[in-house]
Amino acid sequence: MPSPAYRVHALIEGTVQGVGFRPYVYRLASALRLGGWVRNDGGGVRVEVEGAAADVQAFLDRIVRESPALADVASVTADAVPARGERRFTIAASDAAGAAPAIAADAATCAACLGELFDPHDRRHRYPFITCTACGPRFTIARAVPYDRARTTMAAFAMCAACRAEYDDPADRRFHAETNACPACGPRVALVGADGGAIAVPDALSGDARALRDGAIVAVKGLGGFHLACRADDAGVIARLRARKRRAAKPFALMVPDVAAARTLVRLDRAAAAALESGARPIVLAPRRPDAPVAAAVAPRQADLGVLLPYTPLHHLLLAELRQPIVLTSGNVTDEPIAHENADALARLGGIADLFLVHDRGIAVRTDDSVVRMATVAGTRRALPIRRARGWTPLPVALPVATPAPILAVGGELKSTCAVARGGRAWLTQHLGDLGDATAYRAFREALDHFQRLFDVVPAAVAHDLHPGYRSTRFAATLGDLVRVAVQHHHAHVASCLADNGIDRRVLGVAWDGTGHGPDGTVWGGEFLLADLGAYTRVGRFEAVPLPGGDAAVREPWRMAAAFLGAAYGAEATSLGIDAVRRIDPAAWRVVAQAAAHGLNAPRTSSAGRLFDAVACLVGLRDRVGFEAQGAMELEALAAPEADRVYAVAVDAGVVRTTDVVRGVVEDLLAAVAPATIAARFHATLAGVIVRVAERVRTETGIAEVALSGGVFQNVRLLEAATAGLAARGFGVLVHRRVPPNDGGLALGQAAVAARRLADGGAG
Ligand code: ZN
Ligand code: ZN
Ligand code: FE
Repeated sequence: MPSPAYRVHALIEGTVQGVGFRPYVYRLASALRLGGWVRNDGGGVRVEVEGAAADVQAFLDRIVRESPALADVASVTADAVPARGERRFTIAASDAAGAAPAIAADAATCAACLGELFDPHDRRHRYPFITCTACGPRFTIARAVPYDRARTTMAAFAMCAACRAEYDDPADRRFHAETNACPACGPRVALVGADGGAIAVPDALSGDARALRDGAIVAVKGLGGFHLACRADDAGVIARLRARKRRAAKPFALMVPDVAAARTLVRLDRAAAAALESGARPIVLAPRRPDAPVAAAVAPRQADLGVLLPYTPLHHLLLAELRQPIVLTSGNVTDEPIAHENADALARLGGIADLFLVHDRGIAVRTDDSVVRMATVAGTRRALPIRRARGWTPLPVALPVATPAPILAVGGELKSTCAVARGGRAWLTQHLGDLGDATAYRAFREALDHFQRLFDVVPAAVAHDLHPGYRSTRFAATLGDLVRVAVQHHHAHVASCLADNGIDRRVLGVAWDGTGHGPDGTVWGGEFLLADLGAYTRVGRFEAVPLPGGDAAVREPWRMAAAFLGAAYGAEATSLGIDAVRRIDPAAWRVVAQAAAHGLNAPRTSSAGRLFDAVACLVGLRDRVGFEAQGAMELEALAAPEADRVYAVAVDAGVVRTTDVVRGVVEDLLAAVAPATIAARFHATLAGVIVRVAERVRTETGIAEVALSGGVFQNVRLLEAATAGLAARGFGVLVHRRVPPNDGGLALGQAAVAARRLADGGAG
């Protein structure tokens, strides 16, 4: 006798559309011989299944566990409903009503598609746009929601009969794959010259590979924009690329054919290999092998190399033919946003690239590559996010406190990202760049509009930085009808780290970066904040020193060296017998000293980033930098593996006497201690300072949890020493997981603070 039929109705929410969820449900239900149906609706995917109770239970047990790679199930709610004797399982028509669904992130080519790509008998053999429901572009081609072909840049391509049959077959891997295409009906690549004229070659990809091998610079259209590519082992072509791109020293990333090739360049542990091979395919910064077969100019004076694996069929085909690492860097001049439209790329990159590998699939949203850096935190190797973009955007981040009203968070000024939040989730935009650039500012405005539409957010409040001069703050001020929530920069950093760890309780936040507006009118950046999401108290900070010339001090670290020397030694500073002093000409000294003494064009700063700059200059690394934090990065790379001691530093009432650190460095220089040793002692000193302040705060408050945030914590040497020191003394340590510690994470922190304050009934 058959057991009585049992039926449930389930709602599955999260990123479950455009990721092959319905065919997956169809196959699972069919395998368990269940009847019923599945359909998309606005809020997610609805399913009814009917059959033996044990089989229905097995279905519910497996539905999340075995879900498609791109799916991100937020919740499953299931209720028993009356059985109907249904034996067949069907895919029902979608219900367009309801809340806007989530949209998936772009994903690297899956194993099944790769197999077909290199199979001479497959109809998509060597087709550079092969995709399925488990892989391919999503966010970068979506113009609007709901996610279907008509609202993507694939709308221009009508499917041929063979593709349409796959699209319509529930049992097929390409059932409702909105990106489905083939050589007969889909996008095509072409090779064009810098003048825009087509170059006649039998196979654009092979032609491109040949040009690269011969030393050309080629602009390659990828998922989120154009890259510039060239050989990685040819110092001549790299010098040409640097000159044309006007990028003197900033490191270039390298694309390698596979993990084995990555191992010849960098030290790859299991965690780094996992990050490299993850569906997001970020650039992974890992320690460079001394014998890495790449030109030194790829990443001058850096301890790490950035490597990434092919993530589109086009990249796979190119690298399979080249079988060697290539430089793959964003297609732009200096700090402009990456070019993403064919005409724009030709106009802007025509003076840089010799050739262009283009295609006719549009890019709806300009999106850079994501970047992570490997670090050991509390004994575990993990990938620290540095830039969050392609592969992760627009996946949501859960907020530790649900917001009672939808929020817009506009972020900072540099490394800008913004966010929208509704209920318990926040969606961060891709990395947008520096808002001082007009194209980046336009991208910022577009991203805000786009995300409000994608995630159905009609904001009631806008969270922004305290800095009145940030373009994001000025934009927030124009949103007259919204409740405004002003969030102090370093509080936003700490809140970002809390939200990233799903926490809403009081911790000691260590927020170290280059610059942030302090409510006392000074420039903050070496901060210890006792903070939760709602509020903070400044319980410690770096000693304030003059910032001679304001922003000029960021580009010219010699100014900071002079400011610190002046603060530490007064008038004696100019007669110290160290090289850095001799390199600064006397007139410049006088200007800096006067600025410092009279506060003329010299605001005071407690910035940790500026202390790194000063020390980098003192040990002889550089007096001027080509990009922010260059001195700090080189100081980290220079540091000897072990520190034999730390410098004696006074901490009075929470104020860290950074001039003591500078005195320690100067004494070492006078004693002819090696710069590598000084750099090691410097990092160990700062890690020790964090532990000392944390111990004092724990004694006074009982709080034994420390959150590390701010751009300075991209410094792995400092991060590892600080987390190890804190853990050894019994502290809980919070570091970033999904959003960067730098200003790219600010918007999440702002959204979390606003959510907390709105939930508490005040905007603050
Ligand atoms: Zn696939
Ligand atoms: Zn086709
Ligand atoms: Fe910051």
